[in-house]
Amino acid sequence: MRSDDRPEILLIRQTRPDVAERLGQRFRLHRLDAAPDRDAALAEIGPRIRGLAVGAMTPIDGALFDRLPNLEIVSSFGVGYDTIDVGEAARRGICVTHTPDVLSDEVADLALGLLLATVRRILQADRYLRAGQWRQASFPLTTSLRERRAGILGLGRIGRAIATRLEAFGVHVAYHGRRPQDDVPYAYHDSLIGLAAASDILIVAAPGGPDTRGIVDAAVLAALGPEGIVINIARGSLIDEAALTAALKAGTILGAGLDVFANEPHVPEDLAALDNTVLLPHVGSGSHYTRAAMGRLLTDNLFAWFDGQAPLTPVPETPARGGR
Ligand code: NAP
Repeated sequence: MRSDDRPEILLIRQTRPDVAERLGQRFRLHRLDAAPDRDAALAEIGPRIRGLAVGAMTPIDGALFDRLPNLEIVSSFGVGYDTIDVGEAARRGICVTHTPDVLSDEVADLALGLLLATVRRILQADRYLRAGQWRQASFPLTTSLRERRAGILGLGRIGRAIATRLEAFGVHVAYHGRRPQDDVPYAYHDSLIGLAAASDILIVAAPGGPDTRGIVDAAVLAALGPEGIVINIARGSLIDEAALTAALKAGTILGAGLDVFANEPHVPEDLAALDNTVLLPHVGSGSHYTRAAMGRLLTDNLFAWFDGQAPLTPVPETPARGGR
């Protein structure tokens, strides 16, 4: 029988059953989402918790850390960690890990799917056929990916995977980030507005958070121009959603393919009513294959930490000194 001195881990929100199962084999696992009274559960077990396992997009802040005075590590499901207060974690010496790389190809595949669906109006054509309209007339011609120039905002792991796919489609690629990268053949723009002016597809792949909030604004959309297509697989917070909706309505840009929104799962009705958009419910990494890989990496980070090793994929902002 296992002894009771196994490290105690708190699962904030169920991600996948195999994650809970794997954690339960190694740790004393507590489930906050299953607790009838969250406050009472935190008061009772909080001081014993040494590790947190958290689902994507779960807010983790100083108020929660106050309830967990012996917390060492937060292992998060997903690569984006804009809902985790990493500054506060760092101040308290708490390590935060995430699940980069294992999802990049999946998200890049979806970005290309969104792009093709938006440019060639694939979903609209499907609806047209199902409504029996094909019997009356052919589907109207669409715009094209031919001779288009794509600008990637955030040429990181996912942005690069998108870029290689765009190259295979014969689409010219340029990018903007905070600094140029030496090892890529793509043109660098030191301003987002400059990238938008030189592109007719803008693909958003930079992290969310205060530094990037609303950076795709009315001026950037105007620079993209009337043939412009916006694809967002990053975070809804990067785009001024009201400005995007206004531009789509006015036809000052052509269309948008969005996997992420400012206030998920709520999507503004006037955005959802537009015919020149393809809207997805944040499914970028949402395949069985990739979510399983993310779950394994979430648990492997906790296993490494409590084996006294360095975590596999810590975020750069917090200490990663290896478990105690
Ligand atoms: P990453 O490797 O860290 O790449 C992010 C890129 O953004 C870097 O190239 C970085 O370049 C650039 N960047 C960072 N801050 C910037 C700023 N203030 N202005 C302009 N560029 C900036 O991250 P990743 O693994 O590719 O993931 C990117 C994002 O995709 C995640 O943060 C997550 O939010 C999102 N995501 C969404 C889904 C989905 O389901 N839709 C799935 C996974 C990830 P510099 O350092 O040179 O600026």
